[in-house]
Amino acid sequence: RQANLAHLKELPAESTDGKTIRLFCNTGLLADISPGLERGSEGIGLYRSEIPFMVHDTFPTEEEQVKIYRGVLKAYAPKPVVMRTLDIGGDKALPYFPIQEENPFLGWRGIRFALDYRNIQLDQIRAMLLANIGLDNLQIMVPMLSNEEELLSVHRLVDEAISQLKEEGQPVHKPAIGIMAEVPAVIWMLPKLRDYIDFVSIGSNDLTQYLLAVDRNNSRVSHLYSHNHPAVIDAIFLIAKECKRLNIDLSVCGEMASDPKAVLLLMGMGIRTLSMSAFKLPIIKWLVRHADTQECRTILDHVRDLSTTKAIEAHLQAHLEKIG
Ligand code: PEP
Ligand code: MG
Repeated sequence: RQANLAHLKELPAESTDGKTIRLFCNTGLLADISPGLERGSEGIGLYRSEIPFMVHDTFPTEEEQVKIYRGVLKAYAPKPVVMRTLDIGGDKALPYFPIQEENPFLGWRGIRFALDYRNIQLDQIRAMLLANIGLDNLQIMVPMLSNEEELLSVHRLVDEAISQLKEEGQPVHKPAIGIMAEVPAVIWMLPKLRDYIDFVSIGSNDLTQYLLAVDRNNSRVSHLYSHNHPAVIDAIFLIAKECKRLNIDLSVCGEMASDPKAVLLLMGMGIRTLSMSAFKLPIIKWLVRHADTQECRTILDHVRDLSTTKAIEAHLQAHLEKIG
């Protein structure tokens, strides 16, 4: 299928009723850069910055980080690159910094770890800002956020990095700052966080895990894990509605954005930016070009009345088969 979708690269991701969907890709390794560009990605919607940390054998220095980030920003400039700050803990371990916890997914993860190791986070932000000089396509995203204080701390860190760098004579400035919606509490915090964020990206992998209380990597309970669960769909519907009301840019960067069934629902919710693995981009573009957003809305309305994942998936599958 991939081979005969290659011609889609130059074609717009536009629905049959003329709505443009922006298709971005997720990366973390330099090796992922060209597959995205080759498939016509309009930017990077999620750069998982912990991946270069995981493949090192100590914390990378500021200079090492600048070099890595600059490679990514430069390859995509002037297209936007959303760099997520360190998201270690949970399932993402650093070999040189073991963390022992009873409940790693509810523990010292993402921004929680980063704010406790302030200097590591400050160095990373400095490196991102330095890498962005002269390119200006960087956006910074915060993982695992669950309250306002964390967000204000991140702003203080970014401001501190900027004033340090300016003092060092570096022409840096503040990039757009956004958050992952992956801890369910964020859904109800959006009006309160609104003044401090430029965008929101739904991390459907963790959002599903935390809404359903199902470990995303535990095969014993994997039959209970699905982003097409009625409660997950409702939660995402609520986020989309709130972001529209509050005029916040919204995207989805979890696996849901590359599941054709779920994409029908996301389009029906008015979500217009999706970020996914480069290899999924052609099939999702094909789907977008064969879907009608009004019809997606009708599908969504129907699905929101269904009470099981199984019924929802069957309904969506039937629509996909109708499309082609
Ligand atoms: C997510 O949680 O959906 C996400 C995109 O982040 P990660 O998979 O890296 O936790
Ligand atoms: Mg996540």
